[in-house]
Amino acid sequence: MRRWNGWGDDATSMSLGEAALAMLAARLGPGHKAADARRESLVAQIPVSRLQGAHPLIQTDADSRFAMALGESYADWIRKRFGALPPVPDGVAFVESAEQVRELLDLAQRHNWIVIPFAGGTSVAGHLDCPLGERPVLSVNLSRMNRLLHLDKRSQLATFGAGTPGPLVEAQLRAHGYTLGHFPQSFEYSTVGGWVVTRSSGQQSLRYGRIEQLFAGGRLETPVGTLSIPSLPAASAGPDLRELVLGSEGRFGILTEATLRVSPLPEHEGFHALFFPHWDAAEAAVRELVQRKLPLSMLRLSNGIETETNLTLAGHARLIGWLQRYLSWRGCGEGRCMLMLGVTADERSARQALREARQLLARHGAVHIGTAMGSKWAANRFKGPYLRNTLWEHGYSVDTIETAVDWPQVKPLMLAMEQAARDVFAQYGERVHAFTHLSHVYAQGSSIYSQFVWATAAGGFAPNFERWQRLKAAVAATIAAHGGTVSHQHGVGRDHAAHLPDEKGALGMATLAQLCRHFDPKMIMNPGKLLQDGGPWAS
Ligand SMILES: Cc1cc2nc3c(=O)[nH]c(=O)nc-3n(C[C@H](O)[C@H](O)[C@H](O)COP(=O)(O)OP(=O)(O)OC[C@H]3O[C@@H](n4cnc5c(N)ncnc54)[C@H](O)[C@@H]3O)c2cc1C
Repeated sequence: MRRWNGWGDDATSMSLGEAALAMLAARLGPGHKAADARRESLVAQIPVSRLQGAHPLIQTDADSRFAMALGESYADWIRKRFGALPPVPDGVAFVESAEQVRELLDLAQRHNWIVIPFAGGTSVAGHLDCPLGERPVLSVNLSRMNRLLHLDKRSQLATFGAGTPGPLVEAQLRAHGYTLGHFPQSFEYSTVGGWVVTRSSGQQSLRYGRIEQLFAGGRLETPVGTLSIPSLPAASAGPDLRELVLGSEGRFGILTEATLRVSPLPEHEGFHALFFPHWDAAEAAVRELVQRKLPLSMLRLSNGIETETNLTLAGHARLIGWLQRYLSWRGCGEGRCMLMLGVTADERSARQALREARQLLARHGAVHIGTAMGSKWAANRFKGPYLRNTLWEHGYSVDTIETAVDWPQVKPLMLAMEQAARDVFAQYGERVHAFTHLSHVYAQGSSIYSQFVWATAAGGFAPNFERWQRLKAAVAATIAAHGGTVSHQHGVGRDHAAHLPDEKGALGMATLAQLCRHFDPKMIMNPGKLLQDGGPWAS
């Protein structure tokens, strides 16, 4: 069963070995273990629903409503763990068809309710926050719209119900010999619709593309009508309406189905680990490799601190000790950086791409150690987030912040993001363990994905929330100062909305606000997300 106050299925857990705990203690000091709040005591505090008896599809019991109130951001996490109850929707409707969505949107418009679409609930940017106010809030849960509706093998197009989660997408396609190839780390729970409206990116985007490239068309139920977007191989028929759906974060309407570009299952897939002596060599190698446009599926480059952290977390101290000595002997000592390289293709192209890639990387000092670590990574590719649970149990908090920027700014921004975090925690007399990887690389630049681990503060929700807010604000300001995007893959939500005007500019924000008003004149759809309430563009 899915955990209510942590990541993932409660049958799965990840342990931290002695070496990892010693590393945390040395870098951060002892953790602060906090007692967990009980779910029942939170549910018991939920006020009476304002939507009782409103429609047969709407459930108003406190238990169902509570499950729709929170996502997976750090703020959501500490609300659950410390028992700080947020506002909760008044009702939840488990819809099964576009017609039911239409009926509920019409009703919500008539009665001036707020509507929040809820899919996998894996948002890490406050997309699902429920506003507190006069208007009743309806959560529309899409989890029952989870089927492959149509597969056109000739055109390699598959149409899914928008609530289909990753495992069901792949299982239904693999039965026909196809894959979507979209593997965000939240794959177990996140859904087709969630991916599209938050502009998600999967681990093998280098081969399959981001969701923007995979999304061919679909159907959006908006408060003012249905927007049907045909799937065409290409068109020069004016602006592309898919762009109105991508990144819309539930503001323009509810995506009920999506047609996606799928691929035949690959003949060969392998993940290789390579090490570089230092960051500059590694970054130059990866940049040259991606600009060469070889048919690779993944390039994931860890900086020195992340590399050492991953090696420590791997356990098997004797084996890792041997590897470290071997790498030092080959010129990759302290400060070494690990690259995980994925090759996904037919056998012949895979062999050729790997040969060319290894030759190029070797010119930058790379040491190839084969596929053992890569295979382990692939087997555990969705397990990393389970460490959040284990860290918390040992008294440590963790969060991630990500962006993307052109190549000249990649290293300065990476270093500045880590430093900004260290400066914030220094104000509290604390330390933070900050480390980074480039997970999605492009010819033009790269995403930057930083992770931060710190000792959870004593004192419950308020001090921990304050630290997290300061961390987010400081790193966001650093990103803006270096010309990075507000988000490469997690979206805007409520947590990043204040920074969006820096990226879009006044006219850009006014355009987005006008689109909201066009599709949603009564502003019933997911207010406060993407566009902050009360900004100058709001009037
Ligand atoms: C551990 C972890 C790892 C993650 N890794 C990645 C990653 O590798 N790559 C990545 O891109 N993201 C990642 N994320 C972020 C998150 O998984 C994505 O943003 C995902 O796309 C959200 O999908 P969801 O189905 O869970 O949507 P939800 O969280 O339920 O909703 C997100 C937003 O989309 C809206 N929405 C959802 N479905 C619809 C719909 N059908 N119509 C209209 N609006 C809708 C909601 O109202 C909300 O505003 C990760 C999150 C976690 C917790």
